[in-house]
Amino acid sequence: MEFETVIGLEVHAQMLTDTKIFCNCSTKFGGTPNSHACPVCLGMPGVLPVLNKKVVEYGMKMALATNCTINPSNSFARKNYFYPDLPKGYQISQFAYPLAEHGYILLEINGEQKKIGITRIHMEEDAGKLMHDENNPVSYVDLNRTGVPLIEIVSEPDMRSPEEAADYLKRLHEILVYLEICDGNMEEGSFRCDANVSIRPKGQKEFGTRAELKNMNSFRNVQRALEYEVKRQQYLVENGQKIVQETRLWDDAQGVTNPMRSKEEAHDYRYFPDPDLVPVMVDETWIARIREELPELPLVKRERFVKDYQIPAYDAGVLTADKALALYYEDVVKLCGKPKQVSNWVMGDVLRFLNEEKRDIRQCPISAKSLADMITLIEEGAISGKMAKDVIDDMYKTGKPPQDIIKEKGLVQITDEGELIKTISAIIEASPNQLKDYRGGKEKLFGFFVGQVMKATQGKANPQLVNDLLKKMLAG
Ligand code: ADP
Ligand code: ZN
Ligand code: MG
Repeated sequence: MEFETVIGLEVHAQMLTDTKIFCNCSTKFGGTPNSHACPVCLGMPGVLPVLNKKVVEYGMKMALATNCTINPSNSFARKNYFYPDLPKGYQISQFAYPLAEHGYILLEINGEQKKIGITRIHMEEDAGKLMHDENNPVSYVDLNRTGVPLIEIVSEPDMRSPEEAADYLKRLHEILVYLEICDGNMEEGSFRCDANVSIRPKGQKEFGTRAELKNMNSFRNVQRALEYEVKRQQYLVENGQKIVQETRLWDDAQGVTNPMRSKEEAHDYRYFPDPDLVPVMVDETWIARIREELPELPLVKRERFVKDYQIPAYDAGVLTADKALALYYEDVVKLCGKPKQVSNWVMGDVLRFLNEEKRDIRQCPISAKSLADMITLIEEGAISGKMAKDVIDDMYKTGKPPQDIIKEKGLVQITDEGELIKTISAIIEASPNQLKDYRGGKEKLFGFFVGQVMKATQGKANPQLVNDLLKKMLAG
């Protein structure tokens, strides 16, 4: 039997505000346990939460960037459950009236665009963290994260493979980071994902019973967990067993998912409107102002790069994956033109240097001006592409402009025809056998002569010129 996979994702993104969603405590990651906590986020009796307007605006940005409709009146509810990292005994979230609904984002799949629906985006507060001590029979609680603002982005069950799900996640992540509303750090938990997955026989309309997967902290793990889960569900169905609706935890070390709780054990959250918070009223003027603040989004930028710079979609994808990198690329092109050459140098050498040291483009020692100058020097024939490889290496190590490095190393390219003709004549004279064979039809020997010239000039000869001269002179 052939199966189809159905996936829907719930993403939690921490908002990059300085203060928490309902109080003035810092949202900084880390910090001495319980040093970012106050009576409000600890939920002491008699305190009143006050909504951080920035959280609403950040949520609105994401809503607009994902083509959602913002609810003119949205409101908070209490989601009740007991857990030691939740001092109030309830989480303030949105339920019946979320911030935004009915959006979508576009994925690029095999050159075709596919819409993935966004069911809803709502605001809520994060919970604290429990810390378990292996050597001690006790657990500790750190409430610094309690009340850190989150938006939850729920997708429609529109994805049809683990790969598609990973792609959706990357696009969502990219948008959040572009908007500068989330730092996107998956290891620190600023961007977290629960993945819902089911299978159904191909052609069947109804969805199958789903499992919800938690505890994946990278794009790769989300994909791996989904791949494992699809196989597990297929195995069950093929062996006449039933899939039960449950929450399962990804075990990274074992590469498997294990049951955490079944539907029967699921919480009854007893949602009810939070009486401490008035509805959030969002009018058209406010929406228009936020819309105006939106930056160019990744997909639009990608399409513009392909169109304006005539570079392959692949290049545009790499260059726009990071907003700062895209800016750097455009700065270089503005200075020296040659968009494809710039793309090659940025995607090749520059990114390789940065990746080796896990650095960000903003910390790149090669300024846009220096890279542009280097590319211009190649274009003018002052240095060869091969020399440039050494030059850019030094540019990265020292931060010096290419002109200085070329001077220091005496790396001037030989473009003097007369001088090259002399060198070539001497080489031809010294290689009578190779010359005879070449003229006799062994064309491969052309490479031998190029090599000899390069050796004699210590790689400084202009390669194009060497080629042209050799062709003429070898022909006799
Ligand atoms: P809950 O809050 O209980 O997890 P939701 O109705 O909010 O339930 O759904 C959560 C996610 O599950 C959504 O992203 C939705 O697209 C996805 N989903 C729902 N049904 C299925 C299914 N049968 N297979 C895969 N994903 C599903
Ligand atoms: Zn607080
Ligand atoms: Mg869920």
